Amino acid sequence: MNAVELHARPSADHQGKLARTLALLHAAAEHGAGVVQASSLGAEDQVITQLIARERLPIAVATLDTGKLHAPTLELIGRTEAAYGLQIARFAPRDGAVVHFVTRHGERAMFESVDLRKACCALRKLEPLSRMLDGRSAWITGLRREQSQQRAEVPTFECDEHGRTKFNPLAEWTWGDVWHHIGTHGVPYNPLHDAFMPSIGCEPCTRAVALGEDFRAGRWWWEDEAAKECGLHVKHQGVAA
Ligand code: SF4
Repeated sequence: MNAVELHARPSADHQGKLARTLALLHAAAEHGAGVVQASSLGAEDQVITQLIARERLPIAVATLDTGKLHAPTLELIGRTEAAYGLQIARFAPRDGAVVHFVTRHGERAMFESVDLRKACCALRKLEPLSRMLDGRSAWITGLRREQSQQRAEVPTFECDEHGRTKFNPLAEWTWGDVWHHIGTHGVPYNPLHDAFMPSIGCEPCTRAVALGEDFRAGRWWWEDEAAKECGLHVKHQGVAA
């Protein structure tokens, strides 16, 4: 059974949610060259990219190539570009920072402490994200309220700590809505979702989840629940972490 067969179950108000998502994407497009979709290449972001392409919205699409992604995730970039005739910009960490960190702490530093894990996320994700968003007035994410307790209050749009508008157009979608849309429209997706990985990050830090486990249980599974964000979407008194 693949992920579509397993999860596709539209909620009663799916069409209403889709209409609100499209309205948000059109509002985001009004930022012109100032807006970017920061795609994780996960199921939610693949839905957003498909809608951007379908609506022919002038919204750039970009992703973080951390140097630790699974091969199927990297392969999905090319498949998505080919499907929609668009280019996905890749933002990678600075070579010198990675070499320095790995030389000092080793390839498996993320398993040694939360601080080292966060340091790895800072240099492989946060610094490249800051370059991706540099000069932008708005960005688009695939955050959904259902994904975790920390995300339960995610608004459909907000002002981030740098004054940019952050659009979360799938905030109210369920996992069933996401897969219904993917199945209905043939959206290309990461085959790791078929291998029970609902939330896909870097290869060392993602595992499959068991039936009944939380959506993000396979991310940094060795850490306490409270530590489980990479910092891309965490606010600390107005400062990104
Ligand atoms: S998810 Fe893991 S490998 Fe990726 S940047 Fe964070 S700690 Fe490093």
